[in-house]
Amino acid sequence: METAESAPDPDFSGIDLERDTDLVRSTKTLIHKPVSSALNGNLIIDQFGRTFEYVRIALNERCNLRCVYCMPEEGVDFLPQNDLLTTDEIMRLISVLSENGVSRIRFTGGEPLLHKDIISLVECAVGTGIKSVHMTTNGLMLKKHVKPLFDAGLTGINISLDTLDHQKFVKITRREGLEQVMEGLRLALASPIPSVKMNVVFMRDFNHKEIGEFLELTRDDPLTIRFIELMPFDAHQIWKTGKFFGAEKIEEEVRRIYPDIETDSGTATEHRIFKIPGYAGKVGIIPAFTRSLCGECNRIRVTADGKIRNCLYSDDEFDLKRLIQNGATDMEIGKEIRRAMWMKPEDGWVAQRQGNHGRESMTQIGG
Ligand code: SAM
Ligand code: SF4
Repeated sequence: METAESAPDPDFSGIDLERDTDLVRSTKTLIHKPVSSALNGNLIIDQFGRTFEYVRIALNERCNLRCVYCMPEEGVDFLPQNDLLTTDEIMRLISVLSENGVSRIRFTGGEPLLHKDIISLVECAVGTGIKSVHMTTNGLMLKKHVKPLFDAGLTGINISLDTLDHQKFVKITRREGLEQVMEGLRLALASPIPSVKMNVVFMRDFNHKEIGEFLELTRDDPLTIRFIELMPFDAHQIWKTGKFFGAEKIEEEVRRIYPDIETDSGTATEHRIFKIPGYAGKVGIIPAFTRSLCGECNRIRVTADGKIRNCLYSDDEFDLKRLIQNGATDMEIGKEIRRAMWMKPEDGWVAQRQGNHGRESMTQIGG
């Protein structure tokens, strides 16, 4: 698979990522705390003193859309159902993660709303004492799920939608469904779910002229629009086509259209967050590829087949499903999670230099 280092895109926003030392240096903001200073309570830590209280769990690999940057029309080589974590195994892992100090969960996939036990899983996470239980979904099946999800205790939802134009929606997802996603979004915004955000993968000559339309969605609703850099995790390599648009350029475009936009506060992954004066919502920019926040990453990722991925750009995987099947105790599973995170590479650039991506699509990593 093409890696970022060899990406031949000649129109790469004018950035040579391999050579641009400022960009690379900006990932080195890692605070090398002595490990002892991070031994606060029961938290999972790594050799650089980072602590991990946040897990993203991929509930499946399958999806009802085929976004061109994520998977090919025919899908990827999906694992057989038997290789995936069962509902009971996911619940067990949630409990072990919670015992090990994890307080925030995001369910992702694949498409998490295709999971038959999604509501029970949210209930389980809330019941286990997880404070923040969020989900990332393509929104296609959201309409009927909003109320049960809220009733189960979901505290946040990110809806992925890259365009507000019907034809472009079909082009990017290779399926119909814009109206269903918009309806799901409206219902989510009308519901008491505390946090509603929209993930927009930003692509040159695809949606970069829609900034204004997206930001107008934040006028009356407390919605955060998150413009995300395209990442090279697609079997079809849209990556090679010059669609990449870097975070700095996205910010320039946003400022060009809304010169009076103000800086605001956001989450750790939101590189920059802005607010148009008088608008209810916000806009965030996520440097997913340029990785300026990568060295401060606080995420544990669990793939649908039960492997820990300690970095999106690393090939190392730690097999929790096998441990569970071999009868491991909670203590042993917790130890393996700690071992996996201890070995987390310093940042995504270091990880990438150590190997290739073993997985074809974000659906297999848990985006
Ligand atoms: N199916 C759900 C969805 O689309 O929201 C959850 C899984 S999806 C893999 C999670 C997020 O990853 C989505 O917001 C999607 O847009 C993003 N994503 C997938 N492939 C990507 C890529 N190559 N670059 C950047 N973001 C990507
Ligand atoms: Fe499915 Fe999400 Fe991938 Fe799109 S980004 S194909 S909705 S998993």
